[in-house]
Amino acid sequence: MAFVSWRRIVIKVGSALIAPTAQGCSTRYLLTIARFIAECRLAGKEVVLVSSGSVAAGRNAIIAKQQPLPINIKQAMAAVGQSRMMASWSQLFDFNCAQILLTHADLQDRRRYLNIDNTLRTLLANQVLPIVNENDSVATAELRVGDNDNLAALVAIVVDADVLLICSDIDGLYTANPRLEPGARHLAEVAEITNAIYAMAGGSHHAIGTGGMLTKIQAADKATKAGIDTLIINGQDAASFERLLSGTAVGTYFVRQQDRRSAKKHWLLNTLTQQGVVQIDVGASAALQSKGASLLASGIVASSGHFEKGDAVLIVNAAQKPLAKGISQYSAHELSKIKGLHSKQIDAVLGYCPSEEVVHRNDLVLLS
Ligand code: GLU
Repeated sequence: MAFVSWRRIVIKVGSALIAPTAQGCSTRYLLTIARFIAECRLAGKEVVLVSSGSVAAGRNAIIAKQQPLPINIKQAMAAVGQSRMMASWSQLFDFNCAQILLTHADLQDRRRYLNIDNTLRTLLANQVLPIVNENDSVATAELRVGDNDNLAALVAIVVDADVLLICSDIDGLYTANPRLEPGARHLAEVAEITNAIYAMAGGSHHAIGTGGMLTKIQAADKATKAGIDTLIINGQDAASFERLLSGTAVGTYFVRQQDRRSAKKHWLLNTLTQQGVVQIDVGASAALQSKGASLLASGIVASSGHFEKGDAVLIVNAAQKPLAKGISQYSAHELSKIKGLHSKQIDAVLGYCPSEEVVHRNDLVLLS
């Protein structure tokens, strides 16, 4: 089966690969994955890594008498293990790595969501490898995504990835648990994630990490609905990575449900309610409509409504004709101070400049 061409990938690596014996990090499987990441980058692809393993890596530093481990013990283990896990990856690369720790609340809050998006974009533009994990040491139960499969799907959506690659200790989805039922059949491709597919995933008995097959299917469901092809592969099998590099799908391939751009367009147009209106000049209208440009402060004439950073705004021309809808990087209050200014002047006026663009092209959809 030929695998679609892609440019940006989010790779999720679970605890079973990072700490196979649950006693600290091991390079046993990481070497192959690190080589795959390096090869992708050499081929001009952009990679974001979502790595588990902080709890497993810090386990031996904290005394733990109770089972299951209480939350404070796990949080302390994660605090020790996170830097160990980062060090394990970093030693395998001759390029810069960056640590990003997220909680569910960060992804829910629209301002923080934009900050994460901006940071990841900047890291990728500078050829740095972002390594993302849940901020286990501070996230309480209500604030957690809870598993890195779902976290990886959310990150893939934030960074507009083409592919989500979930590296597991099993080569994808079977009709039943193959470790319990020898007759279970492997599925090479899933065209749509139905209830029957969820039923095949059962509980979390496949892996030693938090997730198991169920959370992987949830992640594939989220990602494919957002237009992102998803693969679950056996990360312990070096041949999987060789085949992926040669453009062949391995493991189980979950086909995206729609084009990624139309998914984002649909979300921007129909899901987000506009909170304000931004009026732009002739030059900015032309740049937006025919040059595929972002909206800069210099082209803004006026704005109305009470919007915050991260809210959707309607962009209109001098005659009030709606031209586009997009997510504003600045609040209405901030915009009233920086409208008409060159991007370089924003810092002097506001005391900070989170973004050169007021509405980034990736967060903008033309209405005509
Ligand atoms: N964030 C957890 C860790 O680093 C792992 C969660 C998961 O494996 O899904 O240990």
